[in-house]
Amino acid sequence: MSIRPRIRELAAYDFAPHPEGVKLDQNELPYDLPELLRQELLARIAALPLNRYPDLDASELRAALARLHDWPADGIVVTPGSNVLIQNLVIAAGIGQTVLLPTPTFSVYRMQASILGAELVEVPSGPAFRLPVADLLREMEGRRGLLFVANPAAPTGNLHDSDDLERLADAAGDRWLVVIDEAYGQFAGSDSSQLARRPGVLSLRTLSKAFGLAGARVGYALTSPQLAGELRKVVLPFVVSGLQQAAALTMIEHNAEVEERARQVALERAWLQRSLNDVAGVHVFPSTTNFVLFRVDDGRSVYEGLLGKGVVVRPQSGPGLENCLRVTAGTREENERFLEALRATLVEVEHA
Ligand code: PMP
Repeated sequence: MSIRPRIRELAAYDFAPHPEGVKLDQNELPYDLPELLRQELLARIAALPLNRYPDLDASELRAALARLHDWPADGIVVTPGSNVLIQNLVIAAGIGQTVLLPTPTFSVYRMQASILGAELVEVPSGPAFRLPVADLLREMEGRRGLLFVANPAAPTGNLHDSDDLERLADAAGDRWLVVIDEAYGQFAGSDSSQLARRPGVLSLRTLSKAFGLAGARVGYALTSPQLAGELRKVVLPFVVSGLQQAAALTMIEHNAEVEERARQVALERAWLQRSLNDVAGVHVFPSTTNFVLFRVDDGRSVYEGLLGKGVVVRPQSGPGLENCLRVTAGTREENERFLEALRATLVEVEHA
């Protein structure tokens, strides 16, 4: 077999492990499962017949999600992380359709479009990363495919104007699917599920962020039963294990706890944002999520300086993100350690 050139040309998705560091690079929740929930999860796992395949349709989990979102269970698709759903959506669209992206945005959309041979069309966002609605509408004309919009946006953190999203949803027709990726929605208190009740719109969710289950790998989509039925044909059989379903069910049944922790993290993010604003030489972008995007004069040196002090953030690249770094809101102690390391690094870089 020869690997296709477009795959050979791609850079791999890359996260270096930094086990000793203050880990603020992947927008995870800083709190692990509370002890009571951990016990509940362990009991659930202990009762699983592991010699048997898991529930093919994740029916108990979908029923719990249906109650949570007041959504028909047959309009829900569950996958091992929302990345897999992104891939399955691109597979379902297939070669010859367009993947349309306002940029900057989450890198996996672009990567999957490239791997699977879709026609990739990228449109630069407006000032303050506002959706370039007129340009997107123009690109949608005469084509068909998928439009991915992260809302709140990633890696920028801003919340999109609901009128802008509505205009895009209005244009979906039967040629386009507008995917609203709400990975960070709970931190912003935003919810596009009303929009996703229309045909042509899908709300993409993950349990990796506010639910605090990045290690369990569960994502899902809220969409029409008709589209969900088609997507379920694309999702590999038994791809969501009984262990994953058990972890997801445990958190979803304790959504009040999830919301409380998301509120706590949003407060920490607001504190982090205010504190960063006071640091000379740092430009902070507004955020509604659990992370903050900021710009310095020399992004690479600041990233490395922080790493040398045991603080891991995520460097950004590409148009609009020059010299930008993204930091996840951690616990107050982690955020203070980050700020202290940043102040020291900026002095070092200035005098280098
Ligand atoms: N969408 C966005 C905007 C994200 O930031 C992420 C995680 N970095 C994902 C989707 C994927 O999340 P997961 O596969 O963990 O569900």
